[in-house]
Amino acid sequence: MDIIKDLLWHDGRLLGIEWHFWKVIGWMGNLTFFSRFLVQWYATEKRKQVVVPTAFWWLSLTGSLLLFSYALFYEQDSVFIFAYAFTWIPYIRNLVIHRRHNEQSPRCAACGTTCAPQSRFCAMCGAQLESRAQAANLR
Ligand SMILES: [Zn+2]
Repeated sequence: MDIIKDLLWHDGRLLGIEWHFWKVIGWMGNLTFFSRFLVQWYATEKRKQVVVPTAFWWLSLTGSLLLFSYALFYEQDSVFIFAYAFTWIPYIRNLVIHRRHNEQSPRCAACGTTCAPQSRFCAMCGAQLESRAQAANLR
């Protein structure tokens, strides 16, 4: 138990870190950025195929912006700043593509499954999917 206490608290500080505003921002960035791997791994294990959920891109974007702020305003190190200066571009692009794909993917009224774009029948339960035109007429 003493070893855990020593790991968590040493030099009179939590984790031995000198905590202040930018350290909190930097560590929040690290934790957010790292958590995306857990989210992606969980989604992949659940589906039994490699998938990259939307949450992965949101966590990537949030984590990289936090780390970019830390690098820019606190660390002020050119290598660290450059490492996170442009990563938001593919993250936002992937979020846009995810959104467009979801808008084109019909949802099965019978079982709630989101089906592939242009599907006419649900891959999960076989129910006929209403077309976008039909859905628009019903509203
Ligand atoms: Zn269905």
